[in-house]
Amino acid sequence: MPGFTLELDEDQKTLQTWLHEFATDVIRPAAAEWDEREQTPWPIIQEAARAGIYSVDLFASAREDQTGLSLPITMEELFWGDAGIGLAIVGTTLAAAGVVANGTVEQIVEWVPAMFGTQTDVKLGALAVSEPGAGSDVSAMKTTAVYDGASDEWVLNGVKTWITNGGIADVHVVVAAVDPALKARGQASFVVGAEFTGRGLSQGQKFKKHGVRASHTAEVVLSDLRIPGSCLLGGKDKLDERLARARERLSTGGIDGSSGTRSQAAMATFEASRPSVGAQAVGIARAAYEYSLDYAKDRVQFGRPIVENQGIAFMLADMKTRLDAARLLVWRAAWMGRNNVPYTSGEGSMSKLFAGEAAVDITEKAIQILGGNGYTRDYPVERWHRDAKIYTIFEGTSEIQRLIISRAISGHKIA
Ligand SMILES: Cc1cc2nc3c(=O)[nH]c(=O)nc-3n(C[C@H](O)[C@H](O)[C@H](O)COP(=O)(O)OP(=O)(O)OC[C@H]3O[C@@H](n4cnc5c(N)ncnc54)[C@H](O)[C@@H]3O)c2cc1C
Repeated sequence: MPGFTLELDEDQKTLQTWLHEFATDVIRPAAAEWDEREQTPWPIIQEAARAGIYSVDLFASAREDQTGLSLPITMEELFWGDAGIGLAIVGTTLAAAGVVANGTVEQIVEWVPAMFGTQTDVKLGALAVSEPGAGSDVSAMKTTAVYDGASDEWVLNGVKTWITNGGIADVHVVVAAVDPALKARGQASFVVGAEFTGRGLSQGQKFKKHGVRASHTAEVVLSDLRIPGSCLLGGKDKLDERLARARERLSTGGIDGSSGTRSQAAMATFEASRPSVGAQAVGIARAAYEYSLDYAKDRVQFGRPIVENQGIAFMLADMKTRLDAARLLVWRAAWMGRNNVPYTSGEGSMSKLFAGEAAVDITEKAIQILGGNGYTRDYPVERWHRDAKIYTIFEGTSEIQRLIISRAISGHKIA
């Protein structure tokens, strides 16, 4: 075993350099345009596919890295380029993670490549969990999945909301209630292929957003959607066993069926993805820190660069300290996740919580350092600030992360 080190190895450095070049040459120059257009940046995703960045291989090999750091490195570089385009490129990986967390080996092999498509025929994936009445409290989910034994089909009904790539994805992973009485423990994940778009699955409202505007966010409407039995992730036998255990525990008063936060089916996906989401926030924060440091050295007021004022220099010192602290929390959680070290103190949540709030703070300070320029769309920092804000909201709000951490450290039922 090598001794403790935070030095990246040669493979990680090569990955970082390669992605940084793509972010610099392809993503950054396109960022302002796609933010204004508020559309999926297909040409950029296609270019990422041609370069091998939008691919199963990249994300699968990043997951193999024993240190766990390749995935956060990937996220940080892409999101340093631009968060909206970054999300358009990596949105599929959340759906892929949903299949990997809940599916059989056969399902993973079939569906994960189908979400990415090929270098010349790009596809997208979407993970549909949230609903109008079930955001933080996924146990309140109303979307139902009813099994029709005669045809061996599942029938799904409900409305999903705020879904990244919702309605435009080729593969939707949908979490639905099979036994609503069991709340979170009665839910299961289903995979819905492209042939059902327009045949039971359709896009509802597309949202106009504050930030990450190059990423498509929309409602997904499921209306008597009939999918084959084989689309239940994990298979029916496993689900039946799980439901029987949950019913048994419910009848003996062992559980109330409500997790209060994320459902069982969704939980595994969200837990595993938290360090990666934190790393995205680190990428945005780093972009804002670097830009404002350069600006502060160039901009002259009262006959000297503004960085020579303690008021500005100390702000930059705080930004850099928070940025590095956020990355270290992300790397720790990524290493723990990769090496199956349990998050006994909610370390995954800590990384996402701290990095998300650091990104909001750092991008806000960057606007301050740029003064009037920072407030205009001629400069990128206002966009980075708008983009950063989503990191205290999606994939579990900051309050929900604090709930998870406080429950983990106290062992008490904090509400
Ligand atoms: C751009 C974007 C992309 C998204 N992508 C996806 C996606 O791909 N798939 C998907 O399924 N979902 C997605 N979401 C949904 C996202 O996960 C939810 O918005 C998020 O979980 C919060 O739910 P909510 O919006 O209903 O907020 P609410 O749950 O209504 O929360 C509102 C406020 O109340 C607070 N609150 C709620 N409960 C508690 C509590 N117990 N204690 C303290 N405070 C509490 C929250 O922290 C928040 O401040 C996306 C959202 C956005 C905006």
